[in-house]
Amino acid sequence: MTEVKAKTILTPQNGGALSGHYNFSLNPYAGCAFKCSYCYVPKFPSKHKYDDWGNWVEVKTNAAELIRKERALVFGSKIFFSSATDPYQYLELKYRLSRACLTELLKYSPAKITMHTRSHLILQDLPLLQAFGERLSVGVSITTDSDEIGRIFEPMAPSISRRLALIAALNEAGINVFASIAPLLPHDPEKLVQAIKPHAKKVWIDQMSAIDTNTRKDLLAEYSDFFQADNYDRAVAKLTALLKEAGLVKPRV
Ligand code: SF4
Repeated sequence: MTEVKAKTILTPQNGGALSGHYNFSLNPYAGCAFKCSYCYVPKFPSKHKYDDWGNWVEVKTNAAELIRKERALVFGSKIFFSSATDPYQYLELKYRLSRACLTELLKYSPAKITMHTRSHLILQDLPLLQAFGERLSVGVSITTDSDEIGRIFEPMAPSISRRLALIAALNEAGINVFASIAPLLPHDPEKLVQAIKPHAKKVWIDQMSAIDTNTRKDLLAEYSDFFQADNYDRAVAKLTALLKEAGLVKPRV
């Protein structure tokens, strides 16, 4: 872990999956200790080695200060928080950068904030999330119904059960919460829909199979049947149909 002073904190979204939906992404940390095997971030150009993903995190200690400085950009803007890190990885317990950034954002009237996390630590900022009202939603990544599969592919992230409990808690607290299935890992489709349905109003499902980005080739080999392109497409189609039947599909993040 390294403390750094970032030059900017709001990254314009002029291309890629978020553009057209968000003006900026906000990443208070670079790198991510959750170390998901399929994470697409280590594919981006970086001074760090591809295989070293998950072993380094840069803490942008001046993140909130930069929001103050860039506040003119915040007014009326749509911000995705975060696209290249988990804003509630465990370093947040020490640095509280996501909390400080939200506190600043609240002052400058953004139009929309979408938080994206795998971590129950976000519950520690519940009053702050609630203060944004309808402008804020939280996506919780649910990649499978199985804790065991979660542990294998996302060894350092909170368990799937814990994330489902997080969705329930956010929903109960009146936060607009959606489950984000990105990417889909080996799962039982019926069980997955049943686990999500009572608590999330919407589910966003990505088509990405994560084969290209997976840093654990041994896992792709072990689960090659599931990740074989046709099988994977069929699995996504089946789950999407079940989610639609349950009235849960959300078109975009
Ligand atoms: S939590 Fe997100 S950013 Fe972090 S390793 Fe997993 S996929 Fe990558």
